[in-house]
Amino acid sequence: MKQIITLITLITIVQTSSFAQKGYWQQHAKYEMNIDMDAKAHQFTGQQELVYTNNSPNTLNRVFYHLYYNAFQPGSMMDVRSRTIIDPDPRVGDRIVGLKPDEIGFHKINSLTQNGKAVEYKVVGTILEVELAEPISPGKKATFKMDFNSQIPIQIRRTGRDNQEGVDYSMTQWYPKMCEYDKDGWHANPYIGREFHGIWGDFDVKITIDKNYLLGGTGYVQNPQEVGKGYEDKKKKMKTQKGAEDKLTWHFYAPQVHDFAWAADPEFTHDTTLLDNGTLLHFIYMKDTLVDRWTKLRPVAKKSFEFVNENFGEYPYKQYSIIQGGDGGMEYPMCTLITAHSSFQGLVSVTVHESIHSWFQGLMATNESKYSWMDEGFTTFAQYKTMDYLNDGGAINPLARQYGGYVRLVDANRQEPLTTHADFYKSNSVYGSNSYSKGAILLMQLSYIIGDDAVMNGMKRYYDEWHFKHPTAQDFKRVMEKEANMELDWYFEQFVETTNTIDYSIEAVAKKEGKTNITLARKGDMPMPIDVVIKLKDGSLKWYYIPMRIMRNNKGKDIYEITRVNKEAWPWVYPEYELVIDEAIENIEAIEIDPSTRMADVDRSNNYYPKDEEDKAVKFEGK
Ligand SMILES: [Zn+2]
Repeated sequence: MKQIITLITLITIVQTSSFAQKGYWQQHAKYEMNIDMDAKAHQFTGQQELVYTNNSPNTLNRVFYHLYYNAFQPGSMMDVRSRTIIDPDPRVGDRIVGLKPDEIGFHKINSLTQNGKAVEYKVVGTILEVELAEPISPGKKATFKMDFNSQIPIQIRRTGRDNQEGVDYSMTQWYPKMCEYDKDGWHANPYIGREFHGIWGDFDVKITIDKNYLLGGTGYVQNPQEVGKGYEDKKKKMKTQKGAEDKLTWHFYAPQVHDFAWAADPEFTHDTTLLDNGTLLHFIYMKDTLVDRWTKLRPVAKKSFEFVNENFGEYPYKQYSIIQGGDGGMEYPMCTLITAHSSFQGLVSVTVHESIHSWFQGLMATNESKYSWMDEGFTTFAQYKTMDYLNDGGAINPLARQYGGYVRLVDANRQEPLTTHADFYKSNSVYGSNSYSKGAILLMQLSYIIGDDAVMNGMKRYYDEWHFKHPTAQDFKRVMEKEANMELDWYFEQFVETTNTIDYSIEAVAKKEGKTNITLARKGDMPMPIDVVIKLKDGSLKWYYIPMRIMRNNKGKDIYEITRVNKEAWPWVYPEYELVIDEAIENIEAIEIDPSTRMADVDRSNNYYPKDEEDKAVKFEGK
């Protein structure tokens, strides 16, 4: 019997996931690059061979490449955007306009061929527009060969040389990278400093650089016995590279990723920590900085990875590198670049956040520009769950601060919908608040709607169905609908596509034939199911649950470990709902709407009975 059940479960799983793939396609890229660095001039030459597979049902006549370094030139879109937005990012400000010719970044394309034939191309700011020599039909491959040379800009944002912590090279967004073409068409977004989207593929990269440099980045080092520096197998003999006098060639290979980043410095040092499942964590940082804090970080990073593996799906690569560089923290496949000069707690929190991006963006590779809340928000959600675990917190709502930020934005009347393209937000602060806080709240609040178990199982299902792909908001909604067996259109439409807000109140509490009648009111435009928890004078708690008709189901198991009484569904258009409970009014100490605070109610002052007695409210001290 047990075997039969297992077989049936297996068939169901296989069917579910193949159903999710039906009609789905994505492009494929295979990069081979040879890079020769001139660390005195801060320039490099590059040869790139890109085998591009058009898996789309459409014939392509043009392709586009990102040339990110061109953003670091006076008058670029990034420069002008930074100087005209109402709240400039202080890291950028007006720094680009002041760059001298030897401090700017550039990519110069010297030649480009498609299947051996020269193609016409034009550099338009940070985009290379290419007219193909011959169209690429559905299912066909094309091989592009490019010769280019580049200058590494002074570090302004994310990429560049000589960052604020003294790291020589933070090499991110550093090579001509083919733009992604998906079911929504081309995404040749000019780089103005924000989000990314890339093609799934494999990278084979050889970097030749002065031999005193230590490198870390995306991909596995293919010649560890030649480069040494902590990558070598200590039991094997070191080899000397042929022909290389002052320089050393580092050979990296990264399968199934959508970008490639690296960093280099002669002062880097390198430690490793092995996870029980075999993943090797690399820590690469400046020798002069705070060695003990990096030593202290190692077991914390291990614990964090293990928690995320267990709760959000298994990290599929054999290595991950945490590298000092950049200007804060930024995620790349198989690595992150972070700064390390803040507090130890800051180092932990940036490491946890950026490494969780290996799931949200690294594996579930959403188009960040269109769905910045799906990478930053989901990462923030998982980050705070992880931090709570690391701190033995047991908080019911570890995102209380994010809720506060969201409500302040609402109060200031500055909201923009989550559907806003990342480049088009009116301000940096609203982009931040939306992508990080409201995006995280979206998940936490979903656990209020469908139950905590359904959300956490749904996150694993999201991983199973969508890792190594490009999920959209609609794909994510469907995963959660299937997990909860519930209709969730209304939730995503209201919370993602509009700026409507939620406010419920306890209007009146009255005696009714030995029972108690609680009048609840919907004051906000966005409707929600309602949890009401009653505290009786004997100290016991009772939970009443009011779903909405449009959900077509009740939520499953949720965080409260008290008995739940399911009430009739609320047809949301009704402004009020009469909740009749069996308790006599004299026995009631306090009533509260959503004591878990997971519902983003913009005015919680009317969620309590007796009014103005928040201290009497139903309080849960952790799970
Ligand atoms: Zn992030």
